[in-house]
Amino acid sequence: MRREVKQDTTYQPGFLFIPFGVYAPADVQRSRHRYIPDGVELVLGEIDRVDADANKVLLADGRELGYDYLVIATGTTPRPDQTPGMLGSQWRKSIFDFYSLDGATALTGALAAFDGGRVVVHVTDMPIKCPVAPLEFTFLAEAYFRSRDMRDRVELTYVTPLPGAFTKPIASQHLGSMLAERKIEVEPDFMVERIDDEKKALISYDEREIPFDLLVTVPLNMGAAYVGRSGLGDELNYVPVDKHTLLAKAHDNIFAVGDASNIPTSKAGSVAHFGVDVFTGNFCQHVEGKPMTGRFDGHANCFVESGDGKGLLIDFNYETEPLTGSFPLPVVGPFGLLRENTRNHWGKLAFRWMYWHLLLPGRPIPIPAHMSMAGKHQPAAAPAAAMKE
Ligand SMILES: Cc1cc2nc3c(=O)[nH]c(=O)nc-3n(C[C@H](O)[C@H](O)[C@H](O)COP(=O)(O)OP(=O)(O)OC[C@H]3O[C@@H](n4cnc5c(N)ncnc54)[C@H](O)[C@@H]3O)c2cc1C
Repeated sequence: MRREVKQDTTYQPGFLFIPFGVYAPADVQRSRHRYIPDGVELVLGEIDRVDADANKVLLADGRELGYDYLVIATGTTPRPDQTPGMLGSQWRKSIFDFYSLDGATALTGALAAFDGGRVVVHVTDMPIKCPVAPLEFTFLAEAYFRSRDMRDRVELTYVTPLPGAFTKPIASQHLGSMLAERKIEVEPDFMVERIDDEKKALISYDEREIPFDLLVTVPLNMGAAYVGRSGLGDELNYVPVDKHTLLAKAHDNIFAVGDASNIPTSKAGSVAHFGVDVFTGNFCQHVEGKPMTGRFDGHANCFVESGDGKGLLIDFNYETEPLTGSFPLPVVGPFGLLRENTRNHWGKLAFRWMYWHLLLPGRPIPIPAHMSMAGKHQPAAAPAAAMKE
């Protein structure tokens, strides 16, 4: 797949809000040049291949970049081309995605023009970046149709390859009951084989058929194609690394940070940030020939927008699943873990500012890289249904 290398960088979490008119495309794009510190050479170009034996990165335009150490940070990309029928006659007519800026922008018009019928929100396969984003889209769509006084004319279904709403049991139970409260059908364990664009239906390998008038899909997510071509990736082009140091298993001078690696936690901007916090110290030790002492714990921290100006927060790592409680401080919070409130919604919106002004310029943020148990309730205390404030 050929990739256009853009001058702009995007705030991908903002794509969620574009279809609902909360953000315009210009709100989530900025020139990447301003974030590159002095003394760092910025080379814009598509990577075609890495020659790990010769320590070279080969660009598609023929340029070659030699390296002593390579840090792969090319993320993961939605690949609608991987599901038969997805890019057929209904693509961007009644089939949309919001994981790309173009897709989110096109969906704005389709949602505004939608007059009722079957809306299906669909996840092709895991892992995807920000695994809560399709749930957030579903909650926001439900609230949006209510606000347009047409909820009774919309049948809303959430189709997932998982056995429940989310990957981890306690969060899955909370988020699943929120779907049920909003009268959103869930179709679990659905492995899509193809899309029949004449019938306008998702077809699974076990021959279930889900018709739609409007399909909002999260296509298969894959690491960059050059990772596969270079023999550096697994079957989804993610780089196998040590999950605590992010050092590639097969190469002592290659690291993979952010979504590009195969670490067993959510693919998320928060994980990319916390992981890099640990990586920087380790990298300096590694270059000096010393053992790496930092151990990344898989920390993820994600606000989950739930509609009507509310949201939840989840905070977890490799060992601890998302739990109920308050964050970052016990009792006072101010944010609620797996608990809907308006503060979480404002936290989510404030993150765009933090992204441009703290995260991208590399300034510290007030959340430590390693997960803390402060404020978290142990599983036995977790209630069955989502609490509300
Ligand atoms: C809709 C949506 C909502 C999200 N919401 C949240 C959220 O609420 N919280 C959260 O923490 N995370 C969220 N995320 C996930 C978050 O955006 C990503 O996890 C994060 O951007 C990963 O950072 P990264 O640097 O690893 O990869 P990216 O930010 O994807 O950057 C990868 C870069 O590599 C470049 N690249 C790829 N291939 C090549 C190539 N061959 N040659 C040259 N360049 C290449 C790309 O152009 C890109 O600039 C969301 C994502 C989406 C899509």
